[in-house]
Amino acid sequence: MTADDRPTVAVVGGGIAGLAAAWELTGGGAGPGAQSPSVVLLEAADRLGGKLATVEFLGGPVDVGPDGFLGRRPEASQLCHEVGLGDDLVPIGASGAAVWARGRRRPLPGGLFLGVPTRLLPVARSGILSAGGTLRLAADLVAPRPDARGPLGDRAIGPLVARKLGRQVVDRLVDPLVGGIHAGGVADASAAAVLPAVLSVAQRRASFMRSLGKIGARAPGPGGEPAFWALRRGFGSLVDRLVEHLDGRAVDLCLSRPVEAMERAGSRWVLATAAGPMSADAVVVATAAGPAAALLGPHDPEAAAILGALDYASVALVTFAFPEDALPDDLFGTGLLVPHGTPLPRQVAQAAGVDPEEPFLVTACTYLWAKWPHAARPGVRLLRASVGRAADTRARKMSDADLVRRVGLELTTLVGAAAEPIDALVTRWDDAFPQYRVHHLLRVSSVEAAVRRLGGVAVAGAAYHGVGVPACIGSGRAAATDVLAQLQGADSTASA
Ligand SMILES: Cc1cc2nc3c(=O)[nH]c(=O)nc-3n(C[C@H](O)[C@H](O)[C@H](O)COP(=O)(O)OP(=O)(O)OC[C@H]3O[C@@H](n4cnc5c(N)ncnc54)[C@H](O)[C@@H]3O)c2cc1C
Repeated sequence: MTADDRPTVAVVGGGIAGLAAAWELTGGGAGPGAQSPSVVLLEAADRLGGKLATVEFLGGPVDVGPDGFLGRRPEASQLCHEVGLGDDLVPIGASGAAVWARGRRRPLPGGLFLGVPTRLLPVARSGILSAGGTLRLAADLVAPRPDARGPLGDRAIGPLVARKLGRQVVDRLVDPLVGGIHAGGVADASAAAVLPAVLSVAQRRASFMRSLGKIGARAPGPGGEPAFWALRRGFGSLVDRLVEHLDGRAVDLCLSRPVEAMERAGSRWVLATAAGPMSADAVVVATAAGPAAALLGPHDPEAAAILGALDYASVALVTFAFPEDALPDDLFGTGLLVPHGTPLPRQVAQAAGVDPEEPFLVTACTYLWAKWPHAARPGVRLLRASVGRAADTRARKMSDADLVRRVGLELTTLVGAAAEPIDALVTRWDDAFPQYRVHHLLRVSSVEAAVRRLGGVAVAGAAYHGVGVPACIGSGRAAATDVLAQLQGADSTASA
């Protein structure tokens, strides 16, 4: 095959899923081969990386999107090694975290499975639950509650765990932990997509906690490896390195080039952009669900309707720099979770000029100086506060200045901040987190089946099989493998 008759693949969207797709299309770690297609990546924004973003803040890099990734999944560290950033990987610098419960910070107990307890004693000792809540949890050991609804393909995490272990466990442990990852609540979150272990033990008659504990013990453990990793120079360095390599592989990286429509032209696709149409043999659509729905709508309205119905939560991050002595020394672990709906203390509500029952805006605080060695700054402590989640859009309506002031006030209570911050940086991520509701995986498989029927298209990104960076990398690479196989199939049919 000569360079001229190579097929062309277009990647729509230059977030990590799209970049990973382009990497895989051009041979991945092994590099391009004679069969590799010519690749064009079209990105709507004027920068690549999507949610991956690193800025300079007080003399060093700070991630203002994701700040680390789970080591349990291999995709992110594998990609870092492939692009030559293996030596830049840094393990998390502290372990454990706290939750705001019953009026103060309390360390999270051991034995949690994404917030779901597998042991009674650590939870009982943590003081996170009231006496009634602890008794309700203990009942699972002596009189486990059967699952009332029988086997189903999927269930909502919140009601399922509440029936087994009580409402307080959901509100004070499961919701803050799962919410911290998905920026949404567990009332209607899909167990099959987010916490499949919970679903698999729900039908057992034995104690829910013990059954989960056994599964946890059997799960392939991290083998003493740190659970969470980051890049010393931030996720931006992964984007930069990928861009360098993709440039070297002659991938055409087009910025400020939103794809407005996809049309069929025989067996090929024509993509409409402001710079004119471009034609491709195959397309990887690596955007959020909304733009994917708009592009696929004319070709499969049902798949587009499913994608269009996937809703997204908006969040904002406020990264503060506090003088070192402004924060107490007893802040535990890597951060603090604030359960949804926790009312502000009276004096904070008064100072903020809001109703006494108004809940905290802050959903979580990350102690960056403790979590990541590269976020340590001499004499300064960087703290990142997260605000906003599904069903809480208050932060979207506030100006940056009001947000900094309000979050600063909340931090006086939450982490005992005793002085004004030296600096603060607001980063807004509107419509950033897809909400995986009950039967999410069923909807995803319908979309994937519809896309497969169209031929020459694959979808990738956070909307489908996981929002974490490793999952998005995995989905980008899988979509690339899928379209390569389709192209090879078409090629062998043509030459037969
Ligand atoms: C604040 C925050 C913190 C997070 N923290 C973590 C964390 O610590 N660890 C972790 O693993 N994950 C974390 N995540 C989740 C993770 O970062 C994201 O789920 C992931 O980066 C999404 O990647 P993506 O490529 O699917 O989508 P995106 O990054 O959204 O990329 C999609 C791209 O498509 C482009 N696009 C859209 N429409 C078009 C069009 N019509 N034509 C061309 N281009 C288009 C967009 O401009 C965008 O660049 C976090 C996310 C956020 C927002």
